[in-house]
Parts: sequence; C-alpha cells; structure tokens
Amino acid sequence: MNNCIFCRIANGEIPCAKIYEDEYVVAFLDLGQITYGHTLVIPKKHVRNILELDSDTATQVFRVVNNLSKKIVKKLNAKGCNILSNAEEIAGQSVFHFHVHIIPRYDENDGFSYKTRQNKFDLEEIKAKII
Ligand code: AMP
Ligand code: ZN
Repeated sequence: MNNCIFCRIANGEIPCAKIYEDEYVVAFLDLGQITYGHTLVIPKKHVRNILELDSDTATQVFRVVNNLSKKIVKKLNAKGCNILSNAEEIAGQSVFHFHVHIIPRYDENDGFSYKTRQNKFDLEEIKAKII
C-alpha cells in the first residue's frame, strides 16, 4: 500500500534503524521509544492487524519476535520484555500495518505498565462464548 508508512519502511523508501531483515519480515527500533531498545517487528506484506493475519505470516513474524526478544534482552542487559500488538483504534493501534512491539524491561519504573484487573467477570460464561 502506497500510503502505508510501514510498507514504505519495508520497501526501503523511508529510513529506519533496522535491526533485522529477511524475505518476509523487517524489525526496526520504534521512533517513540517506550523503553530503551523498544522494537517493532512487521511483515513486509501489508496486513492491517492480527485480526486479518494469516497463519503463514504469523509464523514468519513470531519466529522473529521469539529470536529477537532473546537477543535484545541479552544484548541490552534487560531483565525481561513485554510483547504487545494493538489491533484497531480502540486498542491503541495508530499505524494500520500489523506490528509486534518488543518492549525490553529494566525495572518497575522504566516507562511501561499495563496491569489493571477487573475481577467481576464470570470466566465460565466467557469460556462458553469463545469455544
Ligand atoms: P501502534 O500505536 O501500536 O500502532 O504502534 C505504532 C508505533 O509505530 C508507535 O509506537 C510509533 O512510535 C511507531 N512509529 C510510527 N512511525 C514510525 C517510524 N517512521 N519509524 C519507527 N517507528 C514509528
Ligand atoms: Zn502497510
């Protein structure tokens, strides 16, 4: 897609701090670093988000997410990482080309937090709706 910024990064039309590339996947540092080393992994093929992702592309992307998470945590001396992919505006997606965030974690105050809990839901009811 011509007007998609991540397609343009994948095609090499827009510069990025690229840390990995193969036939199907590119990974580069996020311009808006949540924590030190915050990385995005994208398929070269345009897919809107995980809700439209096919399983072959998912396999290609998540293989790289798996390998790069280990490498980033090790090389940057992080203590762990969060893996995140926002789908649709309600979930905070701002670039509509599928991407997985790798967010290295250093300590509790390193800039990232997601934990909120609602304990009011009936798990059996939810399970019955999904399966
Ligand atoms: P999301 O909000 O989950 O859709 O994530 C989009 C991410 O893309 C944000 O974290 C942005 O900082 C990042 N981003 C947008 N444009 C660029 C760019 N040209 N190079 C690197 N990261 C970018
Ligand atoms: Zn795209």
